[in-house]
Amino acid sequence: MIESYPRGTHIQYHQQKLTLLYSAMRHYSADLKKRKFNTLYHHLTDSPAQGDYTTVLAKWIDQHRIREIHLLEPNEYDALHSLPALSKKLGVPIHSHPSPQFLVPRAEFATWASGKKHLLMETHYRRLRTERNILMTPQGQPEGGDWNLDDQNRRTFREFAKEKPKVPPLPPPVKDPIVQEVAADVSKLFPQHPGQAANLWVPTTREGALDWLKLFLRQRLEKFGPWEDTMVDGETILFHSVLSPLLNLGLLTPLECIQGAEKAYRDGKAPLNSVEGFIRQILGWREFIHGIYWLKMPEYREVNFLGADRPLPKWAYTGETEMRCVSQAIHGAVDHAYNHHIQRLMVLGNYFLLGGYEPKAVLRWYTEMYLDAYDWVMVPNVLGMILFADGGFFATKPYAAGAAYQDKMGNHCASCRFDPKKKDGPDACPFHSLYWNFFGQHAKLFGKNPRIGMMVKIWEKKPSAEQKEIRQRAQRFLDAQ
Ligand code: FAD
Repeated sequence: MIESYPRGTHIQYHQQKLTLLYSAMRHYSADLKKRKFNTLYHHLTDSPAQGDYTTVLAKWIDQHRIREIHLLEPNEYDALHSLPALSKKLGVPIHSHPSPQFLVPRAEFATWASGKKHLLMETHYRRLRTERNILMTPQGQPEGGDWNLDDQNRRTFREFAKEKPKVPPLPPPVKDPIVQEVAADVSKLFPQHPGQAANLWVPTTREGALDWLKLFLRQRLEKFGPWEDTMVDGETILFHSVLSPLLNLGLLTPLECIQGAEKAYRDGKAPLNSVEGFIRQILGWREFIHGIYWLKMPEYREVNFLGADRPLPKWAYTGETEMRCVSQAIHGAVDHAYNHHIQRLMVLGNYFLLGGYEPKAVLRWYTEMYLDAYDWVMVPNVLGMILFADGGFFATKPYAAGAAYQDKMGNHCASCRFDPKKKDGPDACPFHSLYWNFFGQHAKLFGKNPRIGMMVKIWEKKPSAEQKEIRQRAQRFLDAQ
């Protein structure tokens, strides 16, 4: 096992992400030793500069007369495609084996996608539920009669304030000797990376991950559905699961999360709308995004359909912006290396989309900031889902939203210096002008889109003086960021 210092410096990975990875490795190695496996281990602090995989492997191959290498198929395009050259360089064959991290093999997804011009998550999800018999009746129908129970979910902040559901507290930082030792190494070796290594708050062992899953199923799954799109100032996770860091690292498998949720429904512990909503995320979105990555790489990384070219704002790593919703999301990312989906998509993603920020810079920011960030999941989510940089291969429209959305789904506006109801003047929420400016800029591209063509028509009906004023206000705002 190799803790590669050079790999850790490719970009400025959040300190908690590095602490999670290396702690999980050290725990796993200790466990293997306990079970009498021979392990070779290169620590971060063992000659960091010489710690790249090839150098360390070459030394071990020589010292221990290793004749072949077996590994789980890498889930990163560049890593997978570097294997033939690596094998040649090291002078030993490398054998890849299928990974248990996903339910749908890459080839199966490619067969399903073959010949389709646009791919829809919903169709893939329904196929999987039927074929894998997940949340289905014995007659082969979706449990409860409907595939999608979103009409019971996606509730607003106003409803949240009325019902006042009790939100479980955020788990405290992990205190075990291995994590503390790794955190000390990480903060010493990667001092300029965002976040505080010592504040890692998710488990780093298989046992810890299973307990974390049980806690979610017991404490938060019941309320997951209704509040999955709600945003509450100061609440980092609400009823989300925070399972992605553990799933993506291989400490949990998707099937055990899905089966745990289905069991909670069948035992009467959680309602169908929450359980279906949660299973849709893992069986639906996670598998779909993974399939898209392998289908579209390596060209996917280069897409820029909207020709966006703005460099990241100055406050991307500090959160020092007056827009309260954006600043809260960035603080969440810096403090916890985590944002829930709506903050990623509808606050930050929306801001980067409307502001015309350069896809590669945005991709890098997201990949740096989160505990669960890996190439396979970031590339489609950032380039396809939030930036529409692939021209709508799987998103049927850009997820663009104005100030009214933020005001409806969250309560950040209540403590923001901008007013979501004002359309002009110094207190008008910038999302207002950014939103209309976006449709003005891309009117030709989106005029015929059945889902958002209407917004282009509304833009075109605005008097030209108003259009000019909106454009100028958006430009002034963006230039100052
Ligand atoms: P929950 O809300 O509890 O959802 C349950 C699980 O569903 C997640 O753990 C995750 O495994 C899965 N899931 C849901 N949506 C997606 C999706 N779009 N893609 C893949 N899996 C999904 N997810 C990552 O795992 N890693 C990332 O680096 C990542 N980056 C994202 C960047 C952007 C711009 C966007 C819009 C989404 C990103 N997502 C990413 C997807 C999703 O936001 C996170 O999986 C989720 O917020 C993780 O928190 P959670 O475990 O509490 O999720």
